[in-house]
This record gives sequence, C-alpha cells and structure tokens, in this order.
Amino acid sequence: MNKNFFAKIQDLLLKKEKRVEEEIKAVEEDDPVMSDALAEATEPGTDSWKTDAHTQLAAMKQNLTDLLGRIKKALVSLQTGKYGKCETCGRAIEPARLKLMPETLICMSCSKKKSK
Ligand SMILES: [Zn+2]
Repeated sequence: MNKNFFAKIQDLLLKKEKRVEEEIKAVEEDDPVMSDALAEATEPGTDSWKTDAHTQLAAMKQNLTDLLGRIKKALVSLQTGKYGKCETCGRAIEPARLKLMPETLICMSCSKKKSK
C-alpha cells in the first residue's frame, strides 16, 4: 500500500467522521425525550410512542457512536502507521475492503468468522 492510498483513506475517514457526527446530532434533535427534557409534565397517554421513538433513536445513536469510535481509531492508527492491520489476527486487511469500509478494524475472514 502506498502513500496515495493512505491519503485517500484518510480523506474518506475524515468525511465519514463529519457525516456521522452530523447524523448523531440529527438523531438527538429527533428524540422527543431529549427535546422535551425541559418540558413540564407530559400529557398522559403520549408517553408510550415517545418511549418507543426514544428507544429506537437511542439504538441508532449507539450504532453511530460505535461507528464514530471506529473511525477515530482508524484515523489514529493512520497517524501511528498501524492502519490496515487486522485487530484480531494481525494480518493486513484487504485494500479493497478498506476502500469500501475505511473504518474497519478486522479483515474479511475474521469478520466472516465473527458474523457466524
Ligand atoms: Zn483478521
């Protein structure tokens, strides 16, 4: 893998990081529980959909936060020269996989094993 490849990956990661941060913000704004945090007592009977929506949005936010964490980790490993090595088996991650999913921390075969 050459310098250009890493520069491209870094670019992809930085763009993705920004996008995910914006998505997290949007999810927070959509959350009825969050935006009602300062509101006084809510009307009876309206809580159930709010709780449902909140649960769904909280799960979405969790996924996005996890993704953001992986992106940040990948960016750090780019700086330290450890980028592109599988966290599980230590082998090089396939460049095609990195281009598709630059934040990935494990190689194709480890991810296959994991999802089984
Ligand atoms: Zn691996």
